[in-house]
Amino acid sequence: MNLHPRPDTFLFSPEHIPERARFPVIDAHNHLWSAWDSIDRVVEVMDQVGVVGYCDLTANVELQWVTGGYAFKATSIDPFFARAVTPHPGRFYGFTTSLFTRPITEPLFDEARAFVEQAIALLEQHVRLGAQGLKILKELGLHYRDAYGRRIACCDERLAPVWQACTRLKIPVLLHQADPYGFFEPVTPANEHYGSLQKYPSWSFVDPRFPRFITLQEEMTRLLANHPDTTFILAHAANFPENLEYVGNLLDRHPNAFIDLSARTDELGRQPHTARQFIIRYQDRIIFGTDMPASVEMYRYHFRFYETTDEYFIHPDYDGTFGRYRWRVHGLGLPDDVLKKLYHQNILRLIPGLRKPFTGRANT
Ligand SMILES: [Zn+2]
Repeated sequence: MNLHPRPDTFLFSPEHIPERARFPVIDAHNHLWSAWDSIDRVVEVMDQVGVVGYCDLTANVELQWVTGGYAFKATSIDPFFARAVTPHPGRFYGFTTSLFTRPITEPLFDEARAFVEQAIALLEQHVRLGAQGLKILKELGLHYRDAYGRRIACCDERLAPVWQACTRLKIPVLLHQADPYGFFEPVTPANEHYGSLQKYPSWSFVDPRFPRFITLQEEMTRLLANHPDTTFILAHAANFPENLEYVGNLLDRHPNAFIDLSARTDELGRQPHTARQFIIRYQDRIIFGTDMPASVEMYRYHFRFYETTDEYFIHPDYDGTFGRYRWRVHGLGLPDDVLKKLYHQNILRLIPGLRKPFTGRANT
């Protein structure tokens, strides 16, 4: 008989925090942000918890924290290969953003055709070097404008050759459109994201100069429909885990769409019955990712969330820390065959080039 409540509540229900993932894991959505000095530490964490592979989605981008959020800077992709891939064979792979990392204060392009040509040339060059996909940041859709100041939607026909190039190069596009639903709603205490939006005011898109949440969803859907031969991985459960029925419908209608579940276990874990059913139903379309700085605690939380039926525990914040949380979550207790698909099988299907290094490391 257990007579000791858990440290953080008077709840007596048991806690099971896995030391390592039950099956080998590929973290298919994360960012090193050119912090090459901390690579060895990331590998130590991965080894400790059973993360075999790690995708740096922004292998050609540097991140700078500024007041109210962060700023990107495009950089060479070479240090990623020299400092992460080569010293740690089979552990890291990268996506490129090609030319799609621009200051939001400047037009994305003056002349669309030249921009698209250069973006494709750089993409091809990065793929030759070993990049495994194209990453599109949320700035496309929210911020980027053309030389006339008009917003460029992801489904803008002028960008179509870029997606066609990805099909030809047999690489997926990891697409981030919109952001959490509440980021588009008024910043008041009634907003579930009030704390985050106060901390990072640039995450609020309530200002009418931004498109509405549903507009961005519609543009993403149009893109999927216009390019059925291109594989798209929609970041953060298509940014609509608040409405899994919607996401399920999207996946039903667009077989070229996959979703990663990164940075949204908070949303999934407050509707554990719906989320479990959803993940089992779409078990061939879901991909594991965290989108949080690597730490033992952070990874163990994710394994606890997917593997156990623990109840009412604390999720990490978007920055991977455990100080602030919005509510408590409930573990999904996924079946083993679904866990394997989530942890590595689905991403290996989308990026066959990872199979050899992966199976070299993991005996599955
Ligand atoms: Zn990300």
